[in-house]
Amino acid sequence: EGEWKVAAAPPSNPASARKLVMRTPRQHASAAANTNKFICEALEHLDLAPSQRRLLMSPQREVAVTLSLLRDSGEVATFDAYRVQHDNSRGPFKGGLRFHPHVDLDDVRSLASLMTWKTAVMDIPFGGAKGGVCVDPSELSTRELEILTRKLTQALRPVLGDHTDIPAPDMNTGAREMAWFFDEFSKTAGFTPGIVTGKPVWLHGSLGREAATGRGTVFAIRELLKAQGQGEIAGKSFVIQGFGNVGSWAAQILHQQGGRVVAVADAFGAVANLERGLDIPALCQHLAAKGGLAAFPGGTEMAKEAILAVPCDVLIPAAIGGVITEDNAHTLQCKIVAEAANGPTTPEADAALRRRGIAVLPDIYCNGGGVTVSYFEWVQNLQNLRWSEEEVNSRLDRVMTDAFRAIWQLSQRDSIPLRVAAFAIALERVMQARMNRGFD
Ligand code: GLU
Repeated sequence: EGEWKVAAAPPSNPASARKLVMRTPRQHASAAANTNKFICEALEHLDLAPSQRRLLMSPQREVAVTLSLLRDSGEVATFDAYRVQHDNSRGPFKGGLRFHPHVDLDDVRSLASLMTWKTAVMDIPFGGAKGGVCVDPSELSTRELEILTRKLTQALRPVLGDHTDIPAPDMNTGAREMAWFFDEFSKTAGFTPGIVTGKPVWLHGSLGREAATGRGTVFAIRELLKAQGQGEIAGKSFVIQGFGNVGSWAAQILHQQGGRVVAVADAFGAVANLERGLDIPALCQHLAAKGGLAAFPGGTEMAKEAILAVPCDVLIPAAIGGVITEDNAHTLQCKIVAEAANGPTTPEADAALRRRGIAVLPDIYCNGGGVTVSYFEWVQNLQNLRWSEEEVNSRLDRVMTDAFRAIWQLSQRDSIPLRVAAFAIALERVMQARMNRGFD
């Protein structure tokens, strides 16, 4: 057990520095199979017939389309795109759209299922869905991305609606894409702001939506620290993998609250300041000015692969799924893993973390702040109202805190991990709604 050192950054290759290609090895086990393993584990705590189990694990509808795009170069490119609608027992299907080269049907199936359990455990009146396009958006121009988003809207239009299925941002999509989506959908359906959430605030979006997933993650951490008797966020150390919308907001809010963010990584590199913590506002400015974390004067560059093993109180995976595996679970040096990403921990790694006594705030709860404020946005859209940011944030706090209490109580009562408790609560709520509605 030697002293931990910052690993040297690999030599940079300027030509490929900004390309979002697959730098991490693809997860081998099926993502959908992994999600189903978590469901099965929680089902052990519930008394359900095998037919009901099958119902809970099978998506209601899967749509696969091919989008064609005339590139700026004059070439024709095609992209595979999906929307998986997992369950709508508790309300309209809800979930994001991601643009990423890892997107495939298996991945989207897993993410759609996670949305069903997420909306249920947060107790918001939606079901679960997810969609995506298999594309590296960094290779497309803004015009190409707009056309692709509009084509996606048209292709999915038959299965969407503001009371049927409501998309939202996810990896590499944000307010800009949601505005295009809203505009394209409204061309045929008429003005329909509730068709999509995560829109720009000046275009029927909600104040507080952009920061919501990061803010929700911080509320989740605050509640767990309190419940464990570990005190507060101030003075604790944090490591964040992923510096997109979720990771960067989590970092800013933790920093504001006196947390020490000692290392962050994005898809291109990582930077650390183990003694003093990173000056997050300065890092955000650097990122905006320089386009990357590299050469930040307030920290040392390190290999992004080494970030998970940096000692800290709380490790926050906030990037892609399948990053904490049975191969690296033993290297983690944290007390808590807060899953701001969807599906960051494989079932084998989850078991290893349990054995090591590392508490895990499960994704379906920990990152539920995003869809919760999406729900607030949708409610405002349906009523043509605008809530203040304070109102949004305090309602988010209440939803996160109430959901935590339910998960924590069950986990204490039955001596089960937080993930099992969260899934058990969610499965029970969805099954209850399905049974009450009947099967005819
Ligand atoms: N993509 C986000 C998630 O994974 C938000 C989904 C939404 O707001 O509908 O939870």
